[in-house]
Amino acid sequence: MARAHVQASPGVAREEPAVGRLASASASNAELAAHSIFKEFGLAMPIPISSENLETCKDFPYLKFSDWVRVLGKADMLEHLTGQKSFATMKVILTEFWKRYRALYPNHEVFRLADSGVLDLSCTIPVYTHKDEGRSSKKKPIMILTTQGALGKGTAAQRRRNARGVIKHTVKTTPMKMNFIGHTYTTRYMFMAMPRSVYKHCPDTFFTMLKLYASDMKSLAYDGVDVGRGNRIWVASLGSKGDWPAHVKSAGLKRSFQNVPKRATSKTPCSGICHLCLAGTEDFEEPENAVPFEDFVFLPEWLDTCNVKDPWVEEPAELEIPHDTSDKPSYFKPDFWHNLSLGAGKTRAANFCVMFNPLAAGTSVETRFEDMTADFNSHCSLMKRSAYMKEINREKVGFLKHVDFPDGHWSKGDVTTSLMLWMEKYGAQKIAESGSSDEILITMETCYN
Ligand SMILES: [Zn+2]
Repeated sequence: MARAHVQASPGVAREEPAVGRLASASASNAELAAHSIFKEFGLAMPIPISSENLETCKDFPYLKFSDWVRVLGKADMLEHLTGQKSFATMKVILTEFWKRYRALYPNHEVFRLADSGVLDLSCTIPVYTHKDEGRSSKKKPIMILTTQGALGKGTAAQRRRNARGVIKHTVKTTPMKMNFIGHTYTTRYMFMAMPRSVYKHCPDTFFTMLKLYASDMKSLAYDGVDVGRGNRIWVASLGSKGDWPAHVKSAGLKRSFQNVPKRATSKTPCSGICHLCLAGTEDFEEPENAVPFEDFVFLPEWLDTCNVKDPWVEEPAELEIPHDTSDKPSYFKPDFWHNLSLGAGKTRAANFCVMFNPLAAGTSVETRFEDMTADFNSHCSLMKRSAYMKEINREKVGFLKHVDFPDGHWSKGDVTTSLMLWMEKYGAQKIAESGSSDEILITMETCYN
């Protein structure tokens, strides 16, 4: 791009030396060249790159969060971690934040540290860890570990409402906002990006890095970092976010979705499906002790079993970071949207497709699915959404035989969202057309309203 720019108007290279240098850089190793040019022209954050010798990778690079905080603090850019431009306002907001947090979670270790004078809550930034296995630009799996401020510049919806004057902050002195607005580079701070080739056959490499991360975060809570001008900043983690596979792996969870029984009976008792409670646990010797996970009543049995037994054999490495000692499993936060779009919502959408199939046009299950597919696709293009799933069919919804429970066989969460948007319209339309009085269909449709 720089080369094309300079060719089109040669004067640019003189006026904008950085663009000129980029234009003449070697295209065969453009990334390396870009790094040194960015650095030379002051366009790169001076975060030191740390490294660790792992069994499968020498000098594996990572960025300590303590280095991010120090560099951001010294550059007067802590607003990217708290949403507040001025240091003085930040202190007011953080004081109020921890006051409210203490009312909810008085047993978080951060309060013990504050009470004993180890840290100052007005200068302690609340953060979350995020673990996610994503895909590299070459579509290969890669494990990403980042840290983000719990507070930020708000959400786009909040900004729109504020612009219309609809919502005013209820507590004017403490406009605490969530951390959704802004480029990811300015709101999420990378610790490591580990290609699967490094951890696939050697899981210890991942745990070595997790331990390094935890001890750096612990030092941020106990010692903090000097950010210049006589100021010190501490950091306290509120929890670790991630999808279930990431939590199972990093915390060594023995109770998880991976144990969900697939059949009505089994030779081995289920050891539980949830790290937060004993839902799904079975005891063949004392069957009355079983806690059903399919319990959807208002006060289910599993509710009384929250936080009564650790879901791991060995305490996870991440718990070296100060946390709420009265409820350790809850340090690992479930991802609500993953649970919906690839969990309950997905099952619901698949069941909807099967239940409403008889109301579609056609002479067989297959042809009626084709009719539903056409309606779904046209609704998606109307909503300007990519359907991703091109066809609703027996395979996709998990309904090969009439005895099958339709559990949905797509892996993209967005498919569930598209289906749910369509279901709202399709369900109402089909019930009105057919005049059906089927209670299940009506319940499925009306629960959207
Ligand atoms: Zn549970």
